[in-house]
Amino acid sequence: MSDALPEAVMATLDDPFAKLSGPLAGTRKLHFEVAGTRLVTPHMQRVELTAAELADFSYRPGQDVMLLVAADGNKPVRRRYTIRRLDIAGRLLTIDVVLHGAGPGERWVRAARRGDRIEGIGPRGKVSPFPAADWHLFMGDESAMPAILAMTESLPGDSVATLVIEIPEAADEQDFSAPARTRVSFLHRLGRRAGDPAALTAEAADVELPTGRGHAYLLGEARVVLAMREVLSARGIAESQLSPKAYWGLGRANAGHGEPARDT
Ligand SMILES: Cc1cc2nc3c(=O)[nH]c(=O)nc-3n(C[C@H](O)[C@H](O)[C@H](O)COP(=O)(O)OP(=O)(O)OC[C@H]3O[C@@H](n4cnc5c(N)ncnc54)[C@H](O)[C@@H]3O)c2cc1C
Repeated sequence: MSDALPEAVMATLDDPFAKLSGPLAGTRKLHFEVAGTRLVTPHMQRVELTAAELADFSYRPGQDVMLLVAADGNKPVRRRYTIRRLDIAGRLLTIDVVLHGAGPGERWVRAARRGDRIEGIGPRGKVSPFPAADWHLFMGDESAMPAILAMTESLPGDSVATLVIEIPEAADEQDFSAPARTRVSFLHRLGRRAGDPAALTAEAADVELPTGRGHAYLLGEARVVLAMREVLSARGIAESQLSPKAYWGLGRANAGHGEPARDT
């Protein structure tokens, strides 16, 4: 059993989130312990986390938890992962984490073992399904698959949802079970690098949009999200019908608070 950060390091942190106020009002600290971890597909590691605080924890589908995965000197390094599932009775929160190469989040996930402890903060995030939408379009890469599947599974049975998910290879496809009427396209990268906008923007230009007023959720690499947003805007989808959210930035580590680093 090990702690993501030893107590001695925790004590020296200059932590902007020591107090959960401002944008973090409404969140709480979660004292997680790893309950289990396994590879679900070649590039996706599932981690089950337990915490006493989960007994009365609530969240909206699409929301995430922020994990304190490392320290950079006395600066905390946090990474955000979507809540794939929550079992209140069993006090188990599931996250699915992409194995993309290297980074402090990935390193923690690869090393995590049952009994390891890590601090979380949650629930975070503003992107959740719009119940009044006539249809839902979810688009993103594999880092967005947990959010896309969690949101899709939460839709009522009379909903219509189109899912377009770019993944490394066919073996990374995941099954899910949702009451909504769903149409799913998995785009296999087959050796192309992650963060290349070509496939998802081509799909944004082509995807059939049902009649009525729908909502599109665009998640994943920052420039790919921007490109998909531009394509859908050009197709007449209003800003109010779009929920874009950058999860990571190609070639740049996310900032210590877990968001893609901004250009300086
Ligand atoms: C609200 C929110 C929810 C998220 N939910 C999830 C989730 O459920 N599952 C999940 O896996 N990720 C999710 N992410 C994305 C995840 O937080 C980032 O991918 C993060 O960069 C991973 O941290 P790291 O320390 O492993 O890599 P970093 O230190 O941030 O980056 C190191 C290097 O890896 C590259 N990189 C980072 N992420 C990827 C990737 N996915 N594919 C290819 N290259 C990458 C970077 O460009 C950089 O070069 C979410 C992000 C946000 C903001």
